Amino acid sequence: MAKIKLTINGKSVAVDEGATLLWAANSLGFKVPTLCHDIRLKPYGACRMCLIEIDGNNSLLPACVTKAENGMKALTDSERVHSARKGVIELLLSNHPADCMTCDACGKCALQDYAHEYGVRESRFYSKPDQGIRKDRSKVIQFDRDKCIMCGRCVRICKEVQQDEAIDFSGRGFDMTISPANNDSLLDSSCVLCGQCVSACPVGALVEKQAVGESRAWETEKVQTVCSYCGVGCNIFLNVKDGKIVKTTSEVGTVPNNGNLCVKGRFGNDMVHHPDRLTEPLIKKNGKFKEATWDEAYDHIADKLKKIIKDDGPDSVSCVGSSRCTNEENFLIQKFARAVVGTNNVDECART
Ligand code: SF4
Ligand code: SF4
Ligand code: SF4
Repeated sequence: MAKIKLTINGKSVAVDEGATLLWAANSLGFKVPTLCHDIRLKPYGACRMCLIEIDGNNSLLPACVTKAENGMKALTDSERVHSARKGVIELLLSNHPADCMTCDACGKCALQDYAHEYGVRESRFYSKPDQGIRKDRSKVIQFDRDKCIMCGRCVRICKEVQQDEAIDFSGRGFDMTISPANNDSLLDSSCVLCGQCVSACPVGALVEKQAVGESRAWETEKVQTVCSYCGVGCNIFLNVKDGKIVKTTSEVGTVPNNGNLCVKGRFGNDMVHHPDRLTEPLIKKNGKFKEATWDEAYDHIADKLKKIIKDDGPDSVSCVGSSRCTNEENFLIQKFARAVVGTNNVDECART
């Protein structure tokens, strides 16, 4: 591919033809702030936080959608750029609630971080935020209209990644918002409650309803694991506070799901702490289940299997794996069938 040579902040770089200025700046290690940019999505150029200065051009240009050109000289952090970005933050804060103290996004909010970085404490422009939390029958997604900065990441990820188009922009000016068609509930739209929109939101506008008020961002430990709901085996992070799972997230760049999850993987974690969940093995004695230790349970299984194999032969046993198990677990069950029991009766529910 042809290379483009340009200079950013006095440093030369060669990038592939078609690369954006944001890409070029990042490849040199220059941090350019973005709010509407998400590497899972097509460049959009909505938030104007990534404006940069190009030698010979009177206008500041959005780095995320401007292609690098041969001989360009760009400045990513000049005084002019700095002042424009401060203006963008002021405009975003003009009808944003001063709610960082109780907001669930506090500590992981891009707007909060940039306001801090650019020293914006208040806005010259003002309209009282008065839309509040959208009433929706969905038990898993909460949308705070006042905190929405109209970056469109939720709308675009729903369309471009989830291929759904369940939500879109509606209204104009200060009344503009994000909603399903006809302002219906998410439950009455084509939404599949995958929560991709929540994962893409850079502020506290879209959050996991079950996790509201449960923790501050810095209080949770993120435990990386594999979702066990199906054979795709998505990479997930259990956000744990004081031994309790607060929510499940995933991260862009993880394999195989690149940060995307389905409704079960993202929101189906409450069963872990459900009081009805079995936490100890049960052995049926005299028609009634009784709690047992794991050693007692394994001995019981081994004794029963040995008796069946002795009485009727190993082929009277069959072992069925599950698509909810990992490859390693399914490998082990066939190994157990063949090497321990002595049968080739092995099957897997995902075969059919
Ligand atoms: S969305 Fe961000 S800036 Fe807005 S209240 Fe929440 S933490 Fe603060
Ligand atoms: S939960 Fe999924 S389907 Fe529903 S609006 Fe968000 S991204 Fe679209
Ligand atoms: S809800 Fe979040 S992701 Fe969607 S437009 Fe508003 S700020 Fe952006």
